[in-house]
Amino acid sequence: MAAADVHMAGGAETETFAFQAEINQLLSLIINTFYSNKEIFLRELISNSSDALDKIRFESLTDKSKLDAQPELFIRLVPDKASKTLSIIDSGVGMTKSDLVNNLGTIARSGTKEFMEALAAGATDVSMIGQFGVGFYSAYLVADKVVVTTKHNDDEQYIWESQAGGSFTVTLDTTGERLGRGTKITLFLKDDQLEYLEERRLKDLVKKHSEFISYPIYLWTEKTTEKEISDDEDEEKDDKKEGDVEVVDDDDKGKDKKKKKVKEVTHEWVQINKQKPIWLRKPEEITREEYASFYKSLTNDWEDHLAVKHFSVEGQLEFKAILFVPRRAPFDLFDTRKKLNNIKLYVRRVFIMDNCEELIPEWLGFVKGVVDSDDLPLNISRETLQQNKILKVIRKNLVKKCIEMFFEIADNKEDYAKFYDAFSKNIKLGIHEDSQNRAKLADLLRYHSTKSGDEMTSLKDYVTRMKEGQKDIYYITGESKKAVENSPFLERLKKKGYEVLFMVDAIDEYAVGQLKEYDGKKLVSATKEGLKLDEETEEDKKRREERKKQFEDLCKVIKEILGDRVEKVVVSDRIVDSPCCLVTGEYGWTANMERIMKAQALRDSSMSAYMSSKKTMEINPDNGIMEELRKRAEADKNDKSVKDLVMLLFETALLTSGFSLDDPNTFAARIHRMLKLGLNIDEDATVDEDADMPALDEGAAEESKMEEVD
Ligand code: ADP
Ligand code: MG
Repeated sequence: MAAADVHMAGGAETETFAFQAEINQLLSLIINTFYSNKEIFLRELISNSSDALDKIRFESLTDKSKLDAQPELFIRLVPDKASKTLSIIDSGVGMTKSDLVNNLGTIARSGTKEFMEALAAGATDVSMIGQFGVGFYSAYLVADKVVVTTKHNDDEQYIWESQAGGSFTVTLDTTGERLGRGTKITLFLKDDQLEYLEERRLKDLVKKHSEFISYPIYLWTEKTTEKEISDDEDEEKDDKKEGDVEVVDDDDKGKDKKKKKVKEVTHEWVQINKQKPIWLRKPEEITREEYASFYKSLTNDWEDHLAVKHFSVEGQLEFKAILFVPRRAPFDLFDTRKKLNNIKLYVRRVFIMDNCEELIPEWLGFVKGVVDSDDLPLNISRETLQQNKILKVIRKNLVKKCIEMFFEIADNKEDYAKFYDAFSKNIKLGIHEDSQNRAKLADLLRYHSTKSGDEMTSLKDYVTRMKEGQKDIYYITGESKKAVENSPFLERLKKKGYEVLFMVDAIDEYAVGQLKEYDGKKLVSATKEGLKLDEETEEDKKRREERKKQFEDLCKVIKEILGDRVEKVVVSDRIVDSPCCLVTGEYGWTANMERIMKAQALRDSSMSAYMSSKKTMEINPDNGIMEELRKRAEADKNDKSVKDLVMLLFETALLTSGFSLDDPNTFAARIHRMLKLGLNIDEDATVDEDADMPALDEGAAEESKMEEVD
């Protein structure tokens, strides 16, 4: 990082720096990868210029004098066939010497490594380089040498230069052409990349990738015209145009002394991007292609957007906006280190900022776009933004429009599947956080269910399928569809023909906890206490009460054996086939939530002790094992085999109910003993081997091992 070498060149001091290791790797990757779509370099460099212009314009809002050195804001492209160079010049904020050293080579961005890994894995392609924050280096796709001349208001003019190869130099520029303020990037094009000197190619490229840059992009164009001029006009020069006049034809001198033909080469700046911002135009006059290219220029995405919403709000408050939903989630969607905000805020056409957190809630962090307000003050500061009422109204409207847009996507099944795949977590986060829109967002949810097959169902469709007499909407949470679809909790519900939704995303637990109901129907967890399926007939009720009485004593015995492992033991209404299951308190965690919380490194242990310890064992009186247990317990309360069986049933129920075993070895030891019994192997013959195994009936002694309530 330190200057490796300092020498004097042309009177100025030149320092040599080594590229940071990862950047060096990235550079050789860019130079050596066979990749045909090299043209994206121009989009990246223009986008950097545009960013730099945004910065100086923002600074000038509070201090006009910042523009003094160069009042005009522009981007200029200068192809020079003689030197085979293409220069991109901007009057942006420029870079100080230390900016140059840090930004262009010595400090790796977090995206450097991620980009290389994604490339290696084939998960991305070079054109996405801008999204990883290392777009500048794409210059080396087409150039073997890059020279960056730059002037920042707070520093002298400097030159950065590198042919890759591990190092770059920085030199104080005392003699070169003065920039006033801004940056000039000169690319020394590789011999097979000279197409980027052609005007036509550059014009097309800007149209394709950079049309919506909100600063004028000028191309230095060359024009050759043949023109007759009279002798007296000869000396005249066009003020606006620079050019050389070359006499090409004077053969009619004799006939007419006053006229002669000349070939005139003139140069002029031609603006090659449209300047009227797209959001000011009428939506009905904008084609899908235009939106797509605007979207791409805004986001550096290489794919088209999935959906767009272009609208204006008028009345008390006026603003225009275009919002986009991308096709894919970005690689860092839930990266908490990075504040995602993809809405650019403009005030009366002037770019203000693109990371205004007050503009859109976090759960909509994946939506991209622009907002142009007529009402906000131009010199708005970050501090005042937080209190700003106008901004609050804008935010409310943006949320509303986003939701409208999501419903529009939902009209197309295929698109919605794509959307849901990428952003369902965001929708669920929205349900968790946005109490105002919660009910509406619930209509965007889709779940697999006991009846949905391969498709997913909405809550709305679920309701249309509800059985007569069914009051609630049932769901089960768990790790995966596979883990829940055969759960014992579903037995009774399935038998009754009640549909159960599979909520298998960790965030479902949180979302459903807030949602609580849909369309006036309670959302009921199949794994929690107090599951009442319906009103029963008098006959059924009587029968159930009887069974309950019969099993009352067994419940007590089991509770005694299990001790603190369960809150209580009751006769179940929900299971049909399995002998028993473990349900959790209505307000405590489900098994799934316990799993999620255990996986979180920084969990609050006091909280989990409180939330996770309330398990109720429900037993199935119609199950043969329970019936046999009841008989044995009635005959002899202290029957050793009853204790063995109860412990085994409990541990098995932990597993089938979605909990984890705190001590799998003890469980295994019990199973092995049962196997031996089943195989008629004499217990005493192997007792030595098993000497250190816990005795099956010493429940009390094992308690501390089994119970891990942390
Ligand atoms: P990103 O644009 O995502 O920050 P780049 O690799 O494209 O990543 O650029 C790296 C940095 O170099 C920029 O963040 C900026 O600080 C600086 N930079 C690049 N081009 C310019 C420019 N034309 N004017 C001023 N600064 C620039
Ligand atoms: Mg960039």
